[in-house]
Amino acid sequence: MADSGLVVVIGSGPVGLSVAYELARGGADVAIVDRAAVGSGAARRNAGWVTPILSAPVPAPGVIATSLKWMLDAESPLRVAPDLSLGHVAFMLRMLAASTPTRFARGLAAVGELGRGTLELFREYRAAGVEFEMHDDGVLLVFRSADERDHHAHDLAESARFGSADLVPLSGADLRDLEPTLSDHADAGLLSPDQAYLSPSTFVDGLAARLKAMGVPLLTEQVPVAVRRRRDHVEVLAGRRILGAHRVVIAAGVGSASLTASLGCRIPLRFGKGYGFDLPLPPVRPRRAIYLAAERVAVTPLDSGLRLAGTMEFGGDPEALDLRRAAAIVASSRPYFRGDLGPAPRPWSGLRPMLPDGLPAIGELPGCPAAILATGHAMLGVTLAPRTGRLVRELVLTGRTPDVLTPFDPGRFRIPRPR
Ligand SMILES: Cc1cc2nc3c(=O)[nH]c(=O)nc-3n(C[C@H](O)[C@H](O)[C@H](O)COP(=O)(O)OP(=O)(O)OC[C@H]3O[C@@H](n4cnc5c(N)ncnc54)[C@H](O)[C@@H]3O)c2cc1C
Repeated sequence: MADSGLVVVIGSGPVGLSVAYELARGGADVAIVDRAAVGSGAARRNAGWVTPILSAPVPAPGVIATSLKWMLDAESPLRVAPDLSLGHVAFMLRMLAASTPTRFARGLAAVGELGRGTLELFREYRAAGVEFEMHDDGVLLVFRSADERDHHAHDLAESARFGSADLVPLSGADLRDLEPTLSDHADAGLLSPDQAYLSPSTFVDGLAARLKAMGVPLLTEQVPVAVRRRRDHVEVLAGRRILGAHRVVIAAGVGSASLTASLGCRIPLRFGKGYGFDLPLPPVRPRRAIYLAAERVAVTPLDSGLRLAGTMEFGGDPEALDLRRAAAIVASSRPYFRGDLGPAPRPWSGLRPMLPDGLPAIGELPGCPAAILATGHAMLGVTLAPRTGRLVRELVLTGRTPDVLTPFDPGRFRIPRPR
């Protein structure tokens, strides 16, 4: 039997926790289920940037050509593995089809609209007692030349149209005034004054603590987790428990595809692997978060030390650590700083949930409206989490899909309807 109004959220990453938090605040009866501990996916393994200004989807025009060019470069920030499995090849072909200028512009506008107001929601969370480390005095985008900056400026300005403050162009000298740790390898910049970053672990821990205080059950480390359709509800199997739910929200990051498949819906979700390093006591301590555009590296000064993160790898073994590619993150960052970054510790890796058009999938699952999917946030899962939560809350509580979610309809992949 379904508990009349129970909503079960599967996944305790930034997206699942934000969805659960929004639903609980909206008065819904919610439970969270995760097969592992809170924040076990990419939740703690990311740069923690809250940057709607970086809304450009991964399948940008030319991205496949760039990745083919970089295929033979063991240290490049983007890699497509020479993997001939059907899923990987079909994914890359779909990504290629999505990388036309028109689809890219449409995707950027859709993600920009999804990210509108997300910075305010993070502030709202803090005001409401969700405790986490957040720094909101802007991020600095750094380039090796003014030409390189101008090359990126258009997409960034397009993203800024969706409620972010205008970008401030900076010369090399301005940059070093603002950020004295930078060397003259950094020759041009853009300051995005209203963007923010947070400590990813404190964000998921803060949300989990707040949810517990609100009385929301967090059923973590439950194996197996499975979903079954029933006539007018769904059942979520969580370890030995069977939860009869009015609705289930699948927000399990890269693990979401197997859960939707068990409901008869296949979504072309794959991982995009990234690497990071935590330098606990670096002699270099920038004042703000810095993006090294050419290297695609995010440098994040946290209370606990300096975090460097980057790279995007499609295909191959999700568990494997490519130490050479990871090491390139630190090696390519060094010239940008005056001081020494110190020795590089062992890297960590994280798996971004990716869909081939680079957009998330948020909405009812075709053929199974009791199940709502909220995943595929790619490089913006932290940034877009509270806004995703707010919109899923609206969908669950009103029964209507908000218009802003139209481009993110999970049905856009023409998933065969279950019989
Ligand atoms: C190197 C790197 C840097 C990044 N930097 C940023 C950044 O600066 N800003 C930003 O916004 N984003 C960033 N991201 C992306 C961000 O980390 C992800 O988009 C985000 O973590 C996705 O959140 P999620 O809640 O959907 O999934 P996850 O955080 O992956 O959480 C999924 C949860 O679901 C659980 N789960 C999985 N399968 C199952 C199952 N079958 N049953 C039950 N539970 C299951 C997992 O245990 C996990 O707890 C970065 C990612 C990487 C790798």
